[in-house]
Amino acid sequence: MAAPVRWCQPRTEAEISAAVKDAAADGLPVRALGSGHSFTSIAATAGVALDLSRWTGITAADTQTGLVTVRSGTTLRTLNAELGGLGLAMANLGDIDAQTLAGALSTGTHGTGAGLGGLATQVEALDLVLADGSLVTCSAASRPELFAAAQIGLGALGVITSVTLRCVPSFTLVADERPVPVDEVLEQFDSLAAANDHFEFYWFPYGRQALVKRNNRLPAGLAPGPHGQAVAAMPGWRRFWEFEVMENTAFGTLCRLGRARPPLIPALNRLSSAALSSRSYADVSHRVFVTPRRVRFVESEYAVPRESLLHVLGELRRQVPRLADPVMFPVEVRVAAADDIWLSTAYGRDTAYVAIHQYTGLPYRSYFDLFESIVADVAGRPHWGKMHTLGTGRLRALYPRYDEFRRVRAEVDPEARFGNAYLTQVLGDPLRPADPP
Ligand SMILES: Cc1cc2nc3c(=O)[nH]c(=O)nc-3n(C[C@H](O)[C@H](O)[C@H](O)COP(=O)(O)OP(=O)(O)OC[C@H]3O[C@@H](n4cnc5c(N)ncnc54)[C@H](O)[C@@H]3O)c2cc1C
Repeated sequence: MAAPVRWCQPRTEAEISAAVKDAAADGLPVRALGSGHSFTSIAATAGVALDLSRWTGITAADTQTGLVTVRSGTTLRTLNAELGGLGLAMANLGDIDAQTLAGALSTGTHGTGAGLGGLATQVEALDLVLADGSLVTCSAASRPELFAAAQIGLGALGVITSVTLRCVPSFTLVADERPVPVDEVLEQFDSLAAANDHFEFYWFPYGRQALVKRNNRLPAGLAPGPHGQAVAAMPGWRRFWEFEVMENTAFGTLCRLGRARPPLIPALNRLSSAALSSRSYADVSHRVFVTPRRVRFVESEYAVPRESLLHVLGELRRQVPRLADPVMFPVEVRVAAADDIWLSTAYGRDTAYVAIHQYTGLPYRSYFDLFESIVADVAGRPHWGKMHTLGTGRLRALYPRYDEFRRVRAEVDPEARFGNAYLTQVLGDPLRPADPP
Protein backbone atom coordinates (compact mmCIF):
# COMPACT_ATOMS: atom_id res chain seq x y z
CA MET A 1 0.00 0.00 0.00
CA ALA A 2 1.34 3.45 -0.95
CA ALA A 3 2.43 5.73 1.90
CA PRO A 4 1.36 9.40 2.04
CA VAL A 5 3.79 11.87 0.51
CA ARG A 6 2.81 14.43 3.14
CA TRP A 7 1.38 14.29 6.63
CA CYS A 8 -0.43 17.28 8.18
CA GLN A 9 -1.67 17.79 11.70
CA PRO A 10 -4.07 20.76 11.48
CA ARG A 11 -5.22 22.49 14.66
CA THR A 12 -7.87 24.79 13.20
CA GLU A 13 -10.53 24.72 10.49
CA ALA A 14 -8.43 27.26 8.58
CA GLU A 15 -5.48 24.85 8.66
CA ILE A 16 -7.69 21.97 7.44
CA SER A 17 -8.92 24.13 4.59
CA ALA A 18 -5.35 25.25 3.76
CA ALA A 19 -4.14 21.64 3.72
CA VAL A 20 -6.86 20.71 1.21
CA LYS A 21 -6.05 23.74 -0.98
CA ASP A 22 -2.31 23.02 -0.84
CA ALA A 23 -2.96 19.40 -1.86
CA ALA A 24 -5.00 20.64 -4.82
CA ALA A 25 -2.25 23.09 -5.79
CA ASP A 26 0.26 20.23 -5.79
CA GLY A 27 -2.10 17.90 -7.67
CA LEU A 28 -2.22 15.47 -4.75
CA PRO A 29 -5.15 13.51 -3.34
CA VAL A 30 -5.99 14.10 0.31
CA ARG A 31 -7.57 11.93 2.96
CA ALA A 32 -8.60 12.53 6.56
CA LEU A 33 -7.38 9.90 9.00
CA GLY A 34 -9.39 8.51 11.87
CA SER A 35 -7.86 6.12 14.40
CA GLY A 36 -6.94 3.53 11.77
CA HIS A 37 -9.37 0.91 13.06
CA SER A 38 -10.91 -0.06 9.73
CA PHE A 39 -10.16 -3.49 8.31
CA THR A 40 -10.25 -2.07 4.77
CA SER A 41 -7.83 0.43 3.21
CA ILE A 42 -10.60 3.06 3.24
CA ALA A 43 -8.40 5.70 4.92
CA ALA A 44 -5.26 5.06 2.82
CA THR A 45 -3.78 7.75 0.61
CA ALA A 46 -0.75 8.16 -1.60
CA GLY A 47 -1.13 11.94 -1.26
CA VAL A 48 -1.74 14.07 1.81
CA ALA A 49 -2.82 12.43 5.07
CA LEU A 50 -4.69 14.71 7.46
CA ASP A 51 -4.17 13.61 11.03
CA LEU A 52 -6.94 15.24 13.08
CA SER A 53 -5.72 14.11 16.49
CA ARG A 54 -5.04 17.77 17.44
CA TRP A 55 -8.56 18.76 16.40
CA THR A 56 -10.65 17.43 19.29
CA GLY A 57 -13.17 18.26 22.00
CA ILE A 58 -16.71 19.50 22.47
CA THR A 59 -17.22 23.09 21.30
CA ALA A 60 -20.90 23.65 22.17
CA ALA A 61 -23.48 21.80 24.24
CA ASP A 62 -27.11 22.43 25.09
CA THR A 63 -28.09 20.11 27.91
CA GLN A 64 -31.80 20.93 27.39
CA THR A 65 -31.99 19.83 23.76
CA GLY A 66 -29.07 17.37 23.92
CA LEU A 67 -27.44 19.02 20.89
CA VAL A 68 -23.68 18.82 21.19
CA THR A 69 -21.09 20.00 18.65
CA VAL A 70 -17.86 18.04 18.57
CA ARG A 71 -14.61 18.45 16.63
CA SER A 72 -14.25 15.55 14.23
CA GLY A 73 -10.95 14.13 15.51
CA THR A 74 -12.35 13.45 18.97
CA THR A 75 -12.24 9.77 19.88
CA LEU A 76 -15.43 8.13 21.11
CA ARG A 77 -13.63 7.43 24.39
CA THR A 78 -12.98 11.13 24.99
CA LEU A 79 -16.44 12.04 23.74
CA ASN A 80 -18.16 9.59 26.11
CA ALA A 81 -16.19 10.98 29.05
CA GLU A 82 -16.93 14.61 28.13
CA LEU A 83 -20.62 13.89 27.51
CA GLY A 84 -20.79 12.13 30.90
CA GLY A 85 -19.52 15.32 32.53
CA LEU A 86 -22.48 17.16 30.96
CA GLY A 87 -25.02 14.53 32.05
CA LEU A 88 -25.41 13.36 28.44
CA ALA A 89 -24.67 10.22 26.42
CA MET A 90 -24.84 8.76 22.92
CA ALA A 91 -28.08 6.79 22.55
CA ASN A 92 -26.28 3.78 21.06
CA LEU A 93 -22.65 2.79 20.52
CA GLY A 94 -20.60 -0.01 19.01
CA ASP A 95 -18.38 -2.27 21.05
CA ILE A 96 -15.13 -0.27 21.10
CA ASP A 97 -14.42 3.43 21.64
CA ALA A 98 -11.01 3.91 20.01
CA GLN A 99 -12.44 5.34 16.77
CA THR A 100 -12.64 9.04 16.06
CA LEU A 101 -16.18 10.35 15.77
CA ALA A 102 -15.72 11.21 12.07
CA GLY A 103 -14.03 7.88 11.31
CA ALA A 104 -16.83 5.93 12.98
CA LEU A 105 -19.53 7.93 11.18
CA SER A 106 -17.86 7.77 7.79
CA THR A 107 -17.93 3.94 7.69
CA GLY A 108 -21.43 3.49 9.14
CA THR A 109 -20.35 2.22 12.54
CA HIS A 110 -23.26 0.79 14.52
CA GLY A 111 -24.11 -0.96 17.75
CA THR A 112 -27.21 -3.05 18.36
CA GLY A 113 -30.87 -2.36 19.11
CA ALA A 114 -33.93 -3.29 17.07
CA GLY A 115 -35.46 0.13 17.65
CA LEU A 116 -32.24 2.13 17.18
CA GLY A 117 -30.00 3.13 14.29
CA GLY A 118 -26.24 3.33 13.94
CA LEU A 119 -24.11 6.28 15.07
CA ALA A 120 -24.90 8.35 11.96
CA THR A 121 -28.61 8.42 12.86
CA GLN A 122 -27.63 10.51 15.90
CA VAL A 123 -26.16 13.29 13.74
CA GLU A 124 -28.06 16.56 13.35
CA ALA A 125 -25.57 18.58 11.30
CA LEU A 126 -22.09 18.35 9.80
CA ASP A 127 -19.46 20.94 8.93
CA LEU A 128 -17.24 19.93 6.04
CA VAL A 129 -14.27 21.35 4.18
CA LEU A 130 -14.95 20.59 0.52
CA ALA A 131 -12.42 19.97 -2.24
CA ASP A 132 -12.16 23.69 -3.08
CA GLY A 133 -11.28 24.48 0.54
CA SER A 134 -14.67 26.03 1.34
CA LEU A 135 -16.35 25.26 4.67
CA VAL A 136 -20.03 24.29 4.47
CA THR A 137 -22.65 23.22 6.99
CA CYS A 138 -25.26 20.67 6.07
CA SER A 139 -28.29 19.27 7.87
CA ALA A 140 -31.79 18.03 7.03
CA ALA A 141 -32.77 21.69 6.56
CA SER A 142 -29.66 23.07 4.84
CA ARG A 143 -28.12 21.26 1.84
CA PRO A 144 -30.16 18.13 2.65
CA GLU A 145 -28.72 16.04 -0.18
CA LEU A 146 -25.15 16.69 0.93
CA PHE A 147 -26.24 15.82 4.47
CA ALA A 148 -27.92 12.54 3.47
CA ALA A 149 -24.73 11.58 1.63
CA ALA A 150 -22.17 12.86 4.13
CA GLN A 151 -23.66 11.26 7.26
CA ILE A 152 -22.02 8.06 6.01
CA GLY A 153 -19.74 9.58 3.40
CA LEU A 154 -16.77 7.16 3.31
CA GLY A 155 -14.52 10.23 3.45
CA ALA A 156 -15.43 10.81 -0.22
CA LEU A 157 -17.15 14.18 0.03
CA GLY A 158 -14.86 16.35 2.12
CA VAL A 159 -13.17 16.61 5.48
CA ILE A 160 -15.72 16.64 8.29
CA THR A 161 -14.56 19.30 10.72
CA SER A 162 -17.45 19.28 13.25
CA VAL A 163 -20.38 17.05 14.03
CA THR A 164 -23.53 18.16 15.85
CA LEU A 165 -25.00 15.18 17.65
CA ARG A 166 -28.40 14.76 19.25
CA CYS A 167 -27.49 13.19 22.58
CA VAL A 168 -29.73 11.80 25.32
CA PRO A 169 -29.57 12.22 29.10
CA SER A 170 -26.99 9.91 30.72
CA PHE A 171 -28.46 6.49 31.39
CA THR A 172 -27.62 3.25 33.11
CA LEU A 173 -27.64 -0.07 31.31
CA VAL A 174 -28.40 -3.34 33.02
CA ALA A 175 -26.41 -6.06 31.31
CA ASP A 176 -27.50 -9.67 31.32
CA GLU A 177 -25.18 -12.10 29.56
CA ARG A 178 -25.74 -15.84 29.53
CA PRO A 179 -25.09 -18.93 27.45
CA VAL A 180 -28.19 -20.22 25.66
CA PRO A 181 -28.38 -23.11 23.16
CA VAL A 182 -28.01 -21.57 19.72
CA ASP A 183 -31.14 -23.40 18.46
CA GLU A 184 -33.16 -21.69 21.17
CA VAL A 185 -31.68 -18.26 20.33
CA LEU A 186 -32.57 -18.69 16.67
CA GLU A 187 -36.11 -19.83 17.50
CA GLN A 188 -36.63 -16.77 19.69
CA PHE A 189 -34.57 -14.32 17.66
CA ASP A 190 -37.40 -11.92 16.77
CA SER A 191 -38.85 -11.80 20.26
CA LEU A 192 -35.40 -11.37 21.87
CA ALA A 193 -34.64 -8.51 19.49
CA ALA A 194 -38.01 -6.88 20.20
CA ALA A 195 -37.95 -7.34 23.96
CA ASN A 196 -34.53 -5.85 24.67
CA ASP A 197 -33.15 -2.35 24.09
CA HIS A 198 -29.83 -3.77 22.92
CA PHE A 199 -29.73 -7.45 21.99
CA GLU A 200 -26.86 -9.40 20.46
CA PHE A 201 -25.33 -12.82 20.53
CA TYR A 202 -22.03 -14.53 19.84
CA TRP A 203 -21.79 -18.06 18.54
CA PHE A 204 -18.60 -20.14 18.25
CA PRO A 205 -18.95 -21.95 14.91
CA TYR A 206 -18.39 -25.49 16.25
CA GLY A 207 -20.27 -24.98 19.52
CA ARG A 208 -23.90 -25.48 20.45
CA GLN A 209 -24.08 -22.56 22.84
CA ALA A 210 -24.48 -18.89 22.01
CA LEU A 211 -23.59 -16.09 24.41
CA VAL A 212 -26.68 -13.89 24.53
CA LYS A 213 -26.22 -10.28 25.64
CA ARG A 214 -29.25 -8.26 26.68
CA ASN A 215 -28.59 -4.66 27.69
CA ASN A 216 -31.61 -2.76 28.94
CA ARG A 217 -32.00 0.81 30.09
CA LEU A 218 -32.68 1.38 33.73
CA PRO A 219 -35.63 3.77 34.06
CA ALA A 220 -34.41 7.29 34.94
CA GLY A 221 -34.22 7.89 38.67
CA LEU A 222 -33.72 4.24 39.57
CA ALA A 223 -30.18 3.80 40.82
CA PRO A 224 -28.29 0.54 40.34
CA GLY A 225 -26.86 -1.05 43.42
CA PRO A 226 -27.76 -3.04 46.49
CA HIS A 227 -30.37 -0.56 47.76
CA GLY A 228 -31.85 0.55 44.47
CA GLN A 229 -32.00 -1.91 41.66
CA ALA A 230 -31.11 -5.58 42.14
CA VAL A 231 -28.10 -5.51 39.83
CA ALA A 232 -24.96 -3.72 40.98
CA ALA A 233 -21.98 -2.33 39.06
CA MET A 234 -19.25 -4.89 38.52
CA PRO A 235 -16.43 -4.45 41.04
CA GLY A 236 -13.14 -3.33 39.50
CA TRP A 237 -11.35 -6.60 40.26
CA ARG A 238 -14.10 -8.61 38.56
CA ARG A 239 -14.15 -6.32 35.55
CA PHE A 240 -10.41 -6.86 35.23
CA TRP A 241 -10.77 -10.65 35.65
CA GLU A 242 -13.63 -11.10 33.20
CA PHE A 243 -12.80 -8.57 30.50
CA GLU A 244 -9.00 -8.56 30.61
CA VAL A 245 -8.03 -12.01 31.88
CA MET A 246 -10.80 -14.27 30.54
CA GLU A 247 -11.89 -12.48 27.36
CA ASN A 248 -8.48 -11.25 26.30
CA THR A 249 -5.54 -13.04 27.97
CA ALA A 250 -7.10 -16.52 28.24
CA PHE A 251 -8.89 -16.32 24.89
CA GLY A 252 -5.68 -14.97 23.29
CA THR A 253 -3.78 -17.99 24.64
CA LEU A 254 -6.34 -20.38 23.14
CA CYS A 255 -6.07 -18.54 19.81
CA ARG A 256 -2.28 -18.80 19.78
CA LEU A 257 -2.56 -22.52 20.56
CA GLY A 258 -5.05 -22.91 17.70
CA ARG A 259 -2.76 -21.05 15.30
CA ALA A 260 0.16 -23.30 16.27
CA ARG A 261 -1.97 -26.50 15.97
CA PRO A 262 -4.90 -25.79 13.59
CA PRO A 263 -6.39 -29.33 13.84
CA LEU A 264 -7.14 -28.49 17.50
CA ILE A 265 -9.27 -25.46 16.58
CA PRO A 266 -12.73 -27.10 16.52
CA ALA A 267 -12.08 -28.60 19.97
CA LEU A 268 -10.71 -25.30 21.32
CA ASN A 269 -13.69 -23.53 19.83
CA ARG A 270 -16.07 -25.97 21.57
CA LEU A 271 -14.10 -25.44 24.79
CA SER A 272 -14.58 -21.66 24.49
CA SER A 273 -18.26 -22.26 23.82
CA ALA A 274 -18.66 -24.58 26.84
CA ALA A 275 -16.77 -22.15 29.09
CA LEU A 276 -19.27 -19.34 28.51
CA SER A 277 -20.69 -18.15 31.80
CA SER A 278 -23.49 -15.88 32.98
CA ARG A 279 -23.12 -12.43 34.48
CA SER A 280 -25.37 -9.49 35.30
CA TYR A 281 -24.23 -6.02 36.16
CA ALA A 282 -25.24 -2.42 35.68
CA ASP A 283 -23.14 0.58 34.75
CA VAL A 284 -23.16 3.91 32.98
CA SER A 285 -24.11 3.17 29.34
CA HIS A 286 -20.76 3.47 27.59
CA ARG A 287 -19.05 1.19 30.14
CA VAL A 288 -21.53 -1.52 29.14
CA PHE A 289 -21.50 -0.91 25.38
CA VAL A 290 -17.70 -0.84 25.16
CA THR A 291 -15.40 -3.73 26.09
CA PRO A 292 -11.63 -4.12 25.66
CA ARG A 293 -10.65 -6.01 22.48
CA ARG A 294 -6.98 -6.90 22.63
CA VAL A 295 -6.89 -10.19 20.71
CA ARG A 296 -6.18 -9.31 17.09
CA PHE A 297 -8.39 -10.56 14.30
CA VAL A 298 -9.64 -9.89 10.78
CA GLU A 299 -13.32 -9.24 10.25
CA SER A 300 -16.04 -9.07 7.65
CA GLU A 301 -19.55 -7.93 8.47
CA TYR A 302 -22.69 -7.84 6.35
CA ALA A 303 -26.04 -6.25 6.99
CA VAL A 304 -28.90 -8.52 5.91
CA PRO A 305 -32.67 -8.03 6.00
CA ARG A 306 -33.73 -9.05 9.52
CA GLU A 307 -35.89 -11.89 8.20
CA SER A 308 -32.88 -13.44 6.40
CA LEU A 309 -30.84 -13.99 9.54
CA LEU A 310 -32.00 -17.56 10.12
CA HIS A 311 -31.06 -18.53 6.57
CA VAL A 312 -27.58 -16.99 6.90
CA LEU A 313 -26.84 -18.60 10.27
CA GLY A 314 -28.26 -21.93 9.07
CA GLU A 315 -25.90 -21.92 6.08
CA LEU A 316 -22.91 -20.97 8.23
CA ARG A 317 -23.71 -23.78 10.66
CA ARG A 318 -24.01 -26.24 7.78
CA GLN A 319 -20.99 -25.16 5.76
CA VAL A 320 -18.33 -23.86 8.18
CA PRO A 321 -17.51 -27.35 9.57
CA ARG A 322 -16.64 -28.42 6.00
CA LEU A 323 -14.00 -25.73 5.50
CA ALA A 324 -10.43 -26.98 5.19
CA ASP A 325 -9.15 -24.13 7.40
CA PRO A 326 -10.92 -24.11 10.75
CA VAL A 327 -12.34 -20.95 12.31
CA MET A 328 -11.13 -19.80 15.73
CA PHE A 329 -13.29 -16.74 16.39
CA PRO A 330 -17.02 -16.40 17.14
CA VAL A 331 -19.73 -15.02 14.86
CA GLU A 332 -21.45 -11.91 16.22
CA VAL A 333 -25.09 -11.05 15.48
CA ARG A 334 -26.62 -7.61 16.11
CA VAL A 335 -29.70 -5.71 14.97
CA ALA A 336 -30.68 -2.18 13.93
CA ALA A 337 -33.75 -0.30 12.80
CA ALA A 338 -34.18 0.81 9.20
CA ASP A 339 -32.92 4.34 8.45
CA ASP A 340 -32.84 6.73 5.48
CA ILE A 341 -29.13 7.56 5.20
CA TRP A 342 -28.08 6.94 1.61
CA LEU A 343 -25.10 4.64 2.17
CA SER A 344 -26.26 3.22 5.48
CA THR A 345 -26.12 -0.56 5.59
CA ALA A 346 -29.56 -0.36 7.23
CA TYR A 347 -31.02 1.93 4.53
CA GLY A 348 -34.72 1.17 4.13
CA ARG A 349 -34.82 -2.13 5.99
CA ASP A 350 -34.79 -3.50 9.52
CA THR A 351 -31.42 -5.14 9.69
CA ALA A 352 -29.50 -7.99 11.25
CA TYR A 353 -25.71 -7.63 11.24
CA VAL A 354 -23.63 -10.79 10.95
CA ALA A 355 -19.93 -10.33 11.67
CA ILE A 356 -17.41 -13.10 11.08
CA HIS A 357 -13.85 -13.05 12.36
CA GLN A 358 -10.67 -15.07 12.16
CA TYR A 359 -7.67 -14.90 14.48
CA THR A 360 -4.79 -12.96 12.97
CA GLY A 361 -2.31 -15.15 11.10
CA LEU A 362 -4.82 -17.95 10.41
CA PRO A 363 -6.11 -18.49 6.85
CA TYR A 364 -9.44 -16.72 6.36
CA ARG A 365 -10.02 -16.38 2.61
CA SER A 366 -12.16 -19.49 2.05
CA TYR A 367 -14.28 -18.65 5.14
CA PHE A 368 -14.82 -15.04 4.06
CA ASP A 369 -15.60 -16.14 0.47
CA LEU A 370 -18.12 -18.66 1.76
CA PHE A 371 -19.73 -15.97 3.90
CA GLU A 372 -19.93 -13.53 0.98
CA SER A 373 -21.59 -16.19 -1.18
CA ILE A 374 -24.19 -16.86 1.53
CA VAL A 375 -25.06 -13.20 2.17
CA ALA A 376 -25.13 -12.47 -1.57
CA ASP A 377 -28.31 -14.59 -1.77
CA VAL A 378 -30.08 -12.26 0.67
CA ALA A 379 -28.85 -8.89 -0.64
CA GLY A 380 -26.26 -8.48 2.13
CA ARG A 381 -24.55 -5.08 2.32
CA PRO A 382 -20.94 -4.98 3.56
CA HIS A 383 -19.77 -2.77 6.43
CA TRP A 384 -17.70 -0.05 4.73
CA GLY A 385 -14.84 -0.44 7.22
CA LYS A 386 -14.66 -4.24 7.23
CA MET A 387 -13.32 -6.72 4.69
CA HIS A 388 -15.34 -7.37 1.56
CA THR A 389 -14.79 -7.72 -2.18
CA LEU A 390 -17.82 -5.93 -3.62
CA GLY A 391 -17.45 -3.37 -6.38
CA THR A 392 -19.59 -0.78 -8.12
CA GLY A 393 -21.94 -3.07 -10.05
CA ARG A 394 -23.06 -5.04 -7.04
CA LEU A 395 -23.19 -2.05 -4.69
CA ARG A 396 -25.36 -0.05 -7.08
CA ALA A 397 -27.90 -2.89 -6.96
CA LEU A 398 -27.79 -2.98 -3.15
CA TYR A 399 -28.17 0.75 -2.46
CA PRO A 400 -31.24 2.49 -3.94
CA ARG A 401 -29.55 5.93 -3.52
CA TYR A 402 -26.14 4.86 -4.81
CA ASP A 403 -26.30 6.94 -7.99
CA GLU A 404 -27.48 9.98 -6.06
CA PHE A 405 -24.49 9.62 -3.76
CA ARG A 406 -22.19 9.52 -6.79
CA ARG A 407 -23.90 12.57 -8.27
CA VAL A 408 -23.38 14.57 -5.06
CA ARG A 409 -19.79 13.39 -4.94
CA ALA A 410 -19.21 14.56 -8.52
CA GLU A 411 -20.74 17.95 -7.64
CA VAL A 412 -18.64 18.61 -4.53
CA ASP A 413 -15.45 16.82 -5.57
CA PRO A 414 -15.32 16.81 -9.39
CA GLU A 415 -11.59 15.99 -9.46
CA ALA A 416 -11.83 13.18 -6.90
CA ARG A 417 -9.48 15.10 -4.59
CA PHE A 418 -10.61 12.80 -1.74
CA GLY A 419 -10.30 9.64 -3.84
CA ASN A 420 -8.26 6.54 -3.11
CA ALA A 421 -8.12 2.97 -4.37
CA TYR A 422 -10.85 1.75 -2.02
CA LEU A 423 -13.26 4.47 -3.18
CA THR A 424 -12.51 3.55 -6.78
CA GLN A 425 -13.46 -0.03 -5.91
CA VAL A 426 -16.76 0.87 -4.24
CA LEU A 427 -17.80 4.10 -6.00
CA GLY A 428 -15.90 4.02 -9.29
CA ASP A 429 -13.58 6.69 -10.59
CA PRO A 430 -15.42 9.89 -11.54
CA LEU A 431 -12.46 10.95 -13.67
CA ARG A 432 -12.81 7.99 -16.04
CA PRO A 433 -15.25 8.69 -18.86
CA ALA A 434 -16.01 4.95 -19.06
CA ASP A 435 -17.30 5.08 -15.50
CA PRO A 436 -19.48 8.20 -15.39
CA PRO A 437 -20.98 9.32 -12.08
C1 LIG B 1 -11.70 -4.03 17.45
C2 LIG B 1 -12.70 -3.35 16.54
C3 LIG B 1 -14.03 -3.28 16.94
C4 LIG B 1 -14.97 -2.67 16.10
N1 LIG B 1 -16.27 -2.63 16.50
C5 LIG B 1 -17.22 -2.11 15.68
C6 LIG B 1 -18.59 -2.07 16.06
O1 LIG B 1 -18.96 -2.46 17.16
N2 LIG B 1 -19.48 -1.60 15.16
C7 LIG B 1 -19.11 -1.17 13.91
O2 LIG B 1 -19.97 -0.80 13.11
N3 LIG B 1 -17.81 -1.14 13.55
C8 LIG B 1 -16.87 -1.59 14.40
N4 LIG B 1 -15.54 -1.56 14.03
C9 LIG B 1 -15.18 -0.86 12.77
C10 LIG B 1 -14.85 0.60 13.05
O3 LIG B 1 -15.84 1.24 13.83
C11 LIG B 1 -14.79 1.39 11.73
O4 LIG B 1 -13.91 0.76 10.85
C12 LIG B 1 -14.38 2.85 11.96
O5 LIG B 1 -14.40 3.55 10.77
C13 LIG B 1 -13.02 3.03 12.48
O6 LIG B 1 -12.89 4.39 12.86
P1 LIG B 1 -11.47 5.09 12.74
O7 LIG B 1 -11.53 6.35 13.52
O8 LIG B 1 -10.40 4.12 13.06
O9 LIG B 1 -11.48 5.48 11.19
P2 LIG B 1 -10.42 5.12 10.06
O10 LIG B 1 -10.43 3.66 9.85
O11 LIG B 1 -9.11 5.75 10.34
O12 LIG B 1 -11.10 5.86 8.81
C14 LIG B 1 -12.34 5.43 8.36
C15 LIG B 1 -12.83 6.39 7.28
O13 LIG B 1 -13.21 7.62 7.87
C16 LIG B 1 -12.66 8.69 7.11
N5 LIG B 1 -12.51 9.84 7.97
C17 LIG B 1 -11.88 9.91 9.15
N6 LIG B 1 -11.95 11.18 9.62
C18 LIG B 1 -12.66 11.88 8.73
C19 LIG B 1 -13.06 13.24 8.64
N7 LIG B 1 -12.76 14.12 9.58
N8 LIG B 1 -13.76 13.63 7.55
C20 LIG B 1 -14.07 12.76 6.57
N9 LIG B 1 -13.71 11.47 6.60
C21 LIG B 1 -13.01 11.04 7.66
C22 LIG B 1 -11.35 8.13 6.61
O14 LIG B 1 -10.85 8.88 5.52
C23 LIG B 1 -11.80 6.75 6.22
O15 LIG B 1 -12.46 6.83 4.98
C24 LIG B 1 -14.57 -2.11 14.85
C25 LIG B 1 -13.21 -2.16 14.47
C26 LIG B 1 -12.28 -2.76 15.32
C27 LIG B 1 -10.84 -2.78 14.90
